Amino acid sequence: MELCDLSAYKLSELIKKKEISPKEILNSVLKRIKEKEPEINAYITVTKDLAKFQAEEAEKRQRKGELLSDIDGIPIAIKDNICTKGIKTTCASNILANYVPPYNATVVDRLLKAGAIIIGKTNMDEFAMGSSTETSAFGPTQNPVKKGYVPGGSSGGSAAAVACGEAVFALGSDTGGSIRQPASFCGVVGMKPTYGRVSRYGLVAYASSLDQIGPICKSVEDCAMLLNHICGRDPKDTTSVSVSIPDFRSALNQDIKGIKVGLPREYFVEGLDSRIKDKFMEAVKFLQDAGAIVEEISLPHTKYAISTYYLIATAEASSNLARYDGVKYGIRQSSDGLIEMYKKTRMFGFGREVKRRIMLGTYVLSAGYYEAYYLKALKVRTLIREDFKKGFEKVDCMLTPVSPILPFRIGERIDDPLKMYLVDVYTVSLNLSGLPGISIPCGYIDDLPIGIQLISKAFNEQTIIKLAHFYQRSMEDKWNLNH
Ligand code: GLN
Repeated sequence: MELCDLSAYKLSELIKKKEISPKEILNSVLKRIKEKEPEINAYITVTKDLAKFQAEEAEKRQRKGELLSDIDGIPIAIKDNICTKGIKTTCASNILANYVPPYNATVVDRLLKAGAIIIGKTNMDEFAMGSSTETSAFGPTQNPVKKGYVPGGSSGGSAAAVACGEAVFALGSDTGGSIRQPASFCGVVGMKPTYGRVSRYGLVAYASSLDQIGPICKSVEDCAMLLNHICGRDPKDTTSVSVSIPDFRSALNQDIKGIKVGLPREYFVEGLDSRIKDKFMEAVKFLQDAGAIVEEISLPHTKYAISTYYLIATAEASSNLARYDGVKYGIRQSSDGLIEMYKKTRMFGFGREVKRRIMLGTYVLSAGYYEAYYLKALKVRTLIREDFKKGFEKVDCMLTPVSPILPFRIGERIDDPLKMYLVDVYTVSLNLSGLPGISIPCGYIDDLPIGIQLISKAFNEQTIIKLAHFYQRSMEDKWNLNH
């Protein structure tokens, strides 16, 4: 095992004790990138020189005993829809292929203030629209666990990078599952915090009422550590909430006895791979034996979640993506007259999936269809939210699979959008309800990783961190996941 395979938590201890230096960690990560990147394609941009400079600085602080935080000197990968000053931020789209933001997203500023080393910008589905990282204009990312398979999406680059040591940890974004599902497909941990917990300032908008930035890590401990740095009210994002921020690490190592875990009945119907269900039930049994109280609950409007999500997400996307017109950002395709220039730029700049969603979203917002589709979807969204509210009157958290199917082969689903959308069935409801969720590994089927998802009430991430950490710790030896 090399340094790049260790968790941030372990590396942090070693840095503190001066047993290793930030430069050694960086070199190990860069070496792994050199070995693996030609095959994996986890990155769109690797910021080697910047990272080297930052590691030098961190090393000076280490020598003087003036470390800025527990993540000082640790390399992190950033999804390429999170703005980084002076570093290309492409959203994996041709339309932003040359876009260099003049500012940092708030989360990036926070990481830099804490001394983290920015190692690069990761591959993703174009504008975060997809579940496989195949819609990237920069080519697909490979699943590092099994060649020829997708890493999930849209934060597939971040999940793949963490899974194969091309980064120690990473940031992703989650609009309908894009942190949790790739984490599950790559056998790592991914968390979508409560909507409003983390500032979205500088996150390129896909669907603003659903988008949230969160960590992708090797362990739940790392997730807690990273959350401590990225959460909190930001005056630049009016949807970020001013609530107290606990030390998320204090939730680790707490007793789980008596914790009430709900299994939503509607999640175990047709469409769920029976092998995933069996593995899932093993995890349930394990938690039960460890003292958790498991009971069935009902989320009756689950069957509307996918359609509701794809109406709201596309509606918001069509509005958000109107800004790419060849004038303000990115590439321009010159033509005769303004309208022709818009058309040519957008025709060339956007990929098929993005165009499909802009058309869908424009349609559902158009006069005559607005009430029938968009407004109806907003009403159903409220019902889905109410389901969770009622459910949480009975239980402390809920446990579900992350994906109904195993990671699939590259190319297997890309030509069938509906089939691709169905992959999100267990993740989108949380975004529609603003709730936090964490995806943790729960074993392998045919050498492919699968995950389970824990859900809690808004601003109550500690409950699922506690349970997820307990479970991951207990399983580590079993799967030889000792980071
Ligand atoms: N797969 C979902 C979509 O394509 C979720 C994407 C995301 O969370 N960014 O919309």
